[in-house]
Amino acid sequence: MLYLSTRGHPERKRFSEILLEGLAPDGGLYLPERYPRVDAATLSRWRGLAYADLAFEILSLYIDDIPADDLRAICRRTYTEEVFGTPQIVPLRKLEEGLYLQALSNGPTLAFKDMAMQLLGQLFEYELGRRGEELNILGATSGDTGSAAEYAMRGKRGVRVFMTSPHGRMSPFQQAQMFSLQDANIHNLAVQGVFDDCQDIVKAVSNDLAFKRRYRIGTVNSINWARLVAQVVYYFAGYFQATGGNHEKVSFAVPSGNFGNICAGHVARMMSLPIARLVLATNENDVLDEFFRTGTYRVRGSRDTYETSSPSMDISKASNFERFVFDLLGRDASRTRQLFGEQLPAQGRFELAGEVGAARERYGFASGRSTHADRLATLRDTWQRHGVMIDTHTADGLKVAREHRQPGIPMVVLETALPIKFAATVVEALGREPQRPARFEGIERLPKRVAVVPADAEAVKRYIAQHCDQAGA
Ligand SMILES: *Cc1c(COP(=O)(O)O)cnc(C)c1O
Repeated sequence: MLYLSTRGHPERKRFSEILLEGLAPDGGLYLPERYPRVDAATLSRWRGLAYADLAFEILSLYIDDIPADDLRAICRRTYTEEVFGTPQIVPLRKLEEGLYLQALSNGPTLAFKDMAMQLLGQLFEYELGRRGEELNILGATSGDTGSAAEYAMRGKRGVRVFMTSPHGRMSPFQQAQMFSLQDANIHNLAVQGVFDDCQDIVKAVSNDLAFKRRYRIGTVNSINWARLVAQVVYYFAGYFQATGGNHEKVSFAVPSGNFGNICAGHVARMMSLPIARLVLATNENDVLDEFFRTGTYRVRGSRDTYETSSPSMDISKASNFERFVFDLLGRDASRTRQLFGEQLPAQGRFELAGEVGAARERYGFASGRSTHADRLATLRDTWQRHGVMIDTHTADGLKVAREHRQPGIPMVVLETALPIKFAATVVEALGREPQRPARFEGIERLPKRVAVVPADAEAVKRYIAQHCDQAGA
């Protein structure tokens, strides 16, 4: 399988080449040249597999430059009961007839990002070991991504993580999760500024090509294809649990921000998994809901990006969206390049009024939006009627899922985090604290390993240089 750029760069690459890269050289995103189709016989064979073996079957359709035995071992090391809490890894919970929650948040950091990031950690260690190389991952986080990356990379050979976060702005629980890690290869940098400052610093450091090359700077952001393909697996696993045979259809509702999670659902559907609808849920930052309703994609400025009680969906533009638009345009790379490379930077918007109907009818997309008041109401309703406590992002998904149910078609809502991560809003809705898994008892009191740095790219570069040169010497 070879990978192409959504903006038409002529070069084709193999999986292990794009694994450690971000954007394609022309600024596009990598996609496989084609989506492998899964026929009904294969689907029934996969139905009985353990999650790790299902992951191997799906990944091996996309990865042909890692020997099969190695890839199977990587999957088995990644998706264990020990790490994800249950033998099913992503168990389905029935709320009512035809309505399910799929648990994706029982990994080390209690958010679905672990599903992909844990695999990425294993793939990075494997690939760097094979090449005899090292990588320094530089990232910016306001919460979930940074902790998922750190828990995936801790103790891995050949990898260091330098994770910037806005000083004093994450929840005490999120700070404790990250800063209590004592592994020598994990570095927390609390930047005296806001999240945007952290992102600007990462950009500035990455744009310093000499520094980037000398210190082998890489990223783990949500545009990485390996992360996306890892997420395809749980759509299959959810499908098998919600159905008894292979010809039934299932819909998925997905709390969305950067369009990574639901893009994996799109890929699963392109592989012929019988998905009726992919229901995209946004919070008040409704860039994507607006697109699927009107065909206008209008990115927001930072003043129009709201801080909400489902903060991991507070985005102004959706970094993975280009992948879907490329498919929607019949894989027309020159139009994709024109829209994302020219029109969007110049005008902040583009219109696909003629195509958005196909996004709904041919590609199965539906969408909706959820507000703080909806979140509170959904949290209460789910607690009172079902005795189930959910997090704020999952509440957005469930609220919108209910608006798009179809008779006879099961609806699976992807649970993207556990309520303990966003306890303040849960307390506001229910008047009680969410349960905390035993391994997180008292983490706020553990010793913290974090360096406070000014909002200045040079200071961050100095920190990285110091800690790489020391380690190398
Ligand atoms: C990252 C995240 C999302 C959004 O996922 P995308 O792949 O960016 O669309 C939703 N909920 C939670 C809890 C997250 O951490």
